[in-house]
Formats: sequence, C-alpha cells, structure tokens
Amino acid sequence: MAVAAAAKVQEVREITRIERIGAHSHIRGLGLNDSLEARNVSQGMVGQMSARRAAGIVLQMVKEGRIAGRAVLLAGQPGTGKTAIANALASSLGADTPFTSMAGSEIFSLEMSKTEALTQAIRKSIGVRIKEESEIIEGEVVEVQIERPATGEGNKVGKLILKTTDMETVYDLGGKMIDSILKEKVQSGDVITIDKATGKITRLGRSFTRARDYDATGQQTRFVQCPEGELQKRKEVVHTVTLHEIDVINSRTHGFLALFSGDTGEIKPEVREQINGKVAEWREEGKAEIIPGVLFIDEVHMLDIECFSYLNRALENEMAPIVMMATNRGVTRIRGTNYKSPHGIPLDLLDRLIIVPTTPYEEKELKEILSIRCEEEDCQLSDDALTVLTKIALETSLRYGIQLITTSSLISRKRKAPEVEVEDIKRAYELFFDEGRSVQFLKEYQQEFMFNESSDDADMDI
Ligand code: ATP
Repeated sequence: MAVAAAAKVQEVREITRIERIGAHSHIRGLGLNDSLEARNVSQGMVGQMSARRAAGIVLQMVKEGRIAGRAVLLAGQPGTGKTAIANALASSLGADTPFTSMAGSEIFSLEMSKTEALTQAIRKSIGVRIKEESEIIEGEVVEVQIERPATGEGNKVGKLILKTTDMETVYDLGGKMIDSILKEKVQSGDVITIDKATGKITRLGRSFTRARDYDATGQQTRFVQCPEGELQKRKEVVHTVTLHEIDVINSRTHGFLALFSGDTGEIKPEVREQINGKVAEWREEGKAEIIPGVLFIDEVHMLDIECFSYLNRALENEMAPIVMMATNRGVTRIRGTNYKSPHGIPLDLLDRLIIVPTTPYEEKELKEILSIRCEEEDCQLSDDALTVLTKIALETSLRYGIQLITTSSLISRKRKAPEVEVEDIKRAYELFFDEGRSVQFLKEYQQEFMFNESSDDADMDI
C-alpha cells in the first residue's frame, strides 16, 4: 500500500517546494567552489565564509548518506544569516533528500504532544528510496477488442488477450493503453511488449507463427520474423518518500489525504513500529535504502528540557537525520528548568554538537546583501539611496534594512518615480520604527499604554 501511494506523494512534495518571494528566496545555494571554499558573492550568498564552508562539509556528509545522527549548531547574533545558510544547504541537496525546517516554538503550538511533534519532524527528514521492479511482458496478441463509445459518452474501454509461452492473459485496457494500441495499429497476430508500470504498448512486428500478409492475388507473400514466444524483461522504478509519509498513508485513522491538509494528528506507536519493521525488511531484501536528510530547528532555545532529552536520544538512532539548529541566544535559562547554560541547551546535548559561529557583517557585505535583495524584489535604488540604506542597516539591523526596501519602493512608486531615492528611504524610515526606536518610544510613552507591566529598568528582551 505504501509503495502504491508513493508516486502520488512525490507529486505532493513537489508542489510544496514552490515558493513565492520570501525572506530567503534570493538564496540558491551555498556558493561554494569544487573544493568547498566559499566564493565571496555567489548563488545569492554574501560573506560569512567559514560558516558557509562548514555548511558545505555538512552537505558533503549528507550527500554521502552515511553519517547520520550528527548535530550542528549555528550560533550567532540575529540577522547574521543562520536561517539563510540552512536554506542554502537545503537548495543544494538533491531533490530526493528530505529537508524539514521548523521553529522551536512550533512544538508548543501544535495540537499534539511535544515529543510527537518532534518525532514527526524527524521522520519527515528521513527518506526511503523504494525500488520496485516493473515488468515488461512480451507476447503475441491473440485478440484485441476496443469499444468506442459514441462521442461524448465517456472513455473507450477494451480488452487484450496476450499469449506468452506458458499462458494467455486477459488485460483490461484503460485510456493510455488504448491510445498506444491505436497508435501502433496493433492487431491479432502481432508481437508486442507491455510495460506494466506505464501501460505503454510497443509493437515489435508480426508473429512468425500467425502472420498472414497476402498480396492482391491472395497469395501469402512474406512472414515478419519476430523473436518467438515469451520474454519477460525487468526494469527498476524508484520512488522516494519520507518515513512520515509512509506513517500517514498507513495510519488508518488519517489516510493519505491528510498529507494535503497537513492535519495528521498523532500517529500511533504501533503504526510506526510496523513501518520500521517493514522498512527494515525491504532494506534487507535490497528493495529500499534509507536517505538521511536534514532537520533544521530555528530558535532552538525555545525547546524545553523534555524536548532536548528526547532529541539527545533520537540522535543515537541509526536512522536519524542530520539535525541543524540555530540560536541567537548567549547564556540563558534552559526552558523547563532553573538552570542556565550556553544557548539555553543542556550541556550533555551541547557536548554532541558541532558549533558553527556566524559573525556580524561589515558595511561592504551589508551593501551587497541589500543590493541582491533589491534585485530580488525588482526594486531599482539610486546609488545614494543604497548607501543610505546600508548605513541604516548598519545602525539598526539587516532585517530592518531589508524591510525598508519594500516600503520605500512603494513610496517611490506612489510618486511615480523611476527609482527609489534617498527621500523615499527617509520617509519609510520615519514611518516605520526599527527595534531601537520602538523601545525608546515605549519607554517614553509607557504610561499611556493599557496593561503596561514594565518598570523603568525593565528588561526588554522578549
Ligand atoms: P535570527 O537569529 O533573527 O533568526 P538569522 O541569523 O537566522 O537571524 P537570517 O534570517 O538568515 O538571519 O537573515 C536575515 C535576512 O538577511 C534574510 O533575508 C537572509 O536571507 C539575509 N541574509 C543573511 N545573511 C545573508 C548572506 N550571507 N547572504 C545573503 N543574504 C543573507
């Protein structure tokens, strides 16, 4: 059943890959050369050379498919490209290597237990490449009947009797097969092949035993020489699905349609055990291969102690994906405890992680990133405007700078200007506050807000 639905699932996954212009849509890869060194500006990525190189090594590990269960932590200040690097890694992976991205806080907002949500995320990140054997049957046509309905009365139907050396088989014909029968002008006495996977029918010629080609005088003139009797060729068809997709398809309470809505709910442990057993069997028989993918957990400090201990254990499983995490926190409290630790991650898990730091950008790099974003958003900026925007991003944050591109471009369009000028940036800067000015504003006017809880020296770290 799982195998039968695999083709459908593949389609679903392709659809979910379509992206609109998003925060990271300018990123097409890690921008590395053949020896995995980062090029300064390439594939939409700028600077952050050593972190990109580290991600390149992770990529290599994933591609080799053997080193499962590693965990990498991208640690650095907000807006230093941690999520961008994870996205770049995802787009460099092959189409059938699963990549799952989630924010730590999602664990708490789903209608399922935290560990179930993590289990699903892990199983979404493990691919199963299933090899199916499809047969190509060769034989001689005994009879072929096609019913052509009057126009507008549904599809053609038909049957075909094929004789191979040991038996005669009746095939019910569907639209595709009928089309190829008509195209090939198949009739009884022909030797054909049927591809059971695709339904494609190919006419090889007339059978030596049955061919009757008569000339105008009724004399039998020639036989078409054909390979005699039955031949069965085998061909391999490969599908890749994730363990989670197999779980959902086989979970009686949900059915595979749940894959469309994403509303899969909790999956019973028995179902998973059964699937694990089946996959292990397929692997032993050489029918399936495990492809460890990547699970990216952004804001990992939002996970709590239970999730961390669950992850710690899950990483030991031989089928575990590579887990990449990102955090912008320094020493902070581990959620669910009163202990503090670096990045809010318990020391035993921290001990297993390869930590990749990301560092703040220099002005030149900020300018390059902003200019790439302008291109992505189809927005023309004057040189002066780009310089001002870069200065603002340097003083506030890269994210705020990127947001000003969209807003100032709308402002310039309103005054029908061909490109964004300094005055548009200035107007957008006045209209929309960055974090610093917003905090300042709150401090100045806090008494006027309802439900205000902050004291004068309140810590604004939200
Ligand atoms: P946070 O800690 O707040 O989650 P982050 O480190 O994950 O921040 P990103 O979201 O990756 O930061 O970066 C902010 C924006 O800047 C995104 O639009 C991202 O695509 C872009 N960006 C960051 N670094 C780079 C880079 N090196 N090259 C190109 N674009 C980048």
